[in-house]
Amino acid sequence: HLRVENLSKSFGPTRVLDGISFAVPPGRFTVLLGPSGSGKTTLLRCLAGIERAESGSIHLGERALAQGRSHLPPDRRDLAMVFQDYALWPHMTAAANVGYALRRRRLDREPSRRRVAEVLARVGLSDHAEQFPHQLSGGQQQRVALARALVAEPGLLLFDEPLSNLDADLRERLRVEIATLTRESGATVVYITHDQAEAFALADEVGVLEGGRLVQLGSPEDVYHRPASPFVARFTGLAG
Ligand code: ATP
Repeated sequence: HLRVENLSKSFGPTRVLDGISFAVPPGRFTVLLGPSGSGKTTLLRCLAGIERAESGSIHLGERALAQGRSHLPPDRRDLAMVFQDYALWPHMTAAANVGYALRRRRLDREPSRRRVAEVLARVGLSDHAEQFPHQLSGGQQQRVALARALVAEPGLLLFDEPLSNLDADLRERLRVEIATLTRESGATVVYITHDQAEAFALADEVGVLEGGRLVQLGSPEDVYHRPASPFVARFTGLAG
């Protein structure tokens, strides 16, 4: 259960997040949708602990990830993140990239190797385990990043426009894989995108961001049929 309360953040005079509050029940998939500059990436970076909000709080279950002046560092938040540009270590093989995310588990070599092989198989990359990122296609690199996010079974998975750099056909296939694998993992998911079709296809709940504010949060049906404002109607592409 992820709970975000009244999160605000400015860069200089610009208020990028303005009193954001929402909750995601355990194991649910929430997509935050918004145009460029609406604050999506900044919000995700605050959840991850890469960025600090000025005020507000973030809880995952009973644990405070950020509250007042106290902030847990990213690697103590029980979460993993998948980025638009994959963010793999270029000098490590696919298997080593995935294995790196297990380092805090302090598993022995053999169970660790088995777990990495199991997750690489789940994303269809068993034959590519020993290849380096530059030897893999964009789709394969993103599958490695997905495996790396899943391998340690985090409670929270964060996705920052993971399909934006892929062509349409691959986008469609990876979208289905992300839906299947994240639901299987039982993790709570926050996924950001500016792509309406992607949001509606993936989400249990859709949130719409406009200028740093969460202007609507509801089921895809709700946002589709009852947009809270002309902006939401226009941006979700479902009116006028
Ligand atoms: P995009 O889809 O283009 O990535 P976004 O919705 O993810 O957009 P953010 O990247 O969160 O939006 O940016 C929100 C606003 O904050 C933008 O106006 C951006 O220029 C500004 N911003 C983001 N990071 C910084 C920073 N480190 N310093 C100054 N301004 C920033």
